Amino acid sequence: MSDDALAVANLLERIGQLVRSDEQVGDLYPAQWAALRYLSRANRFSRNPMALTRYLGTTRGTTSQTLIALERKGYVSRTANPRDKRSVDLDLTKQGHAKLRGDPVARVAGVIEDALGRETPVARDHLSRILHHLIDLNNARMFGLCHTCRHFRRDATGSKASPHRCSLLEADLSDEDSEKICVEHESAT
Ligand code: SF4
Repeated sequence: MSDDALAVANLLERIGQLVRSDEQVGDLYPAQWAALRYLSRANRFSRNPMALTRYLGTTRGTTSQTLIALERKGYVSRTANPRDKRSVDLDLTKQGHAKLRGDPVARVAGVIEDALGRETPVARDHLSRILHHLIDLNNARMFGLCHTCRHFRRDATGSKASPHRCSLLEADLSDEDSEKICVEHESAT
């Protein structure tokens, strides 16, 4: 392993520590912030406790505690899942959406833009490659954007509201759905 590679790994760890220390301010812990972010980005097939557990890489018990705390604070609601009686659908409440407008990660995004400017897309591509390698090594799920999935069929339905189709889940998808992350995602490339 090269010194440069180790330096990059240390930098990523240090950035992560600084983000987490920002997240200690206020009424949420880092795991609760991560859950709120996930629920704002995940599609309807992925907003459930099992998918959240996979995304966070924690245990079901830890996820359950996180969700109980978020519900108690009024940021998350749960409803019965009409497709699966053993599961529930999770959603952000209005308060949850409002909370995310003060997300510490947005501050980091501003810092990245100031520091890198036009090089930002290059940094995104490099970090994305690192993430893909780690996902392979850890045998983890990708949670990629729906429109980059091999099951995504663009403009397949003729419907204006939901023009796209998921060939795996046999569901119609809106433009908004196509920009969400999914627990079932499999990379098209
Ligand atoms: S196309 Fe892929 S990412 Fe989109 S809903 Fe279907 S399985 Fe999920």
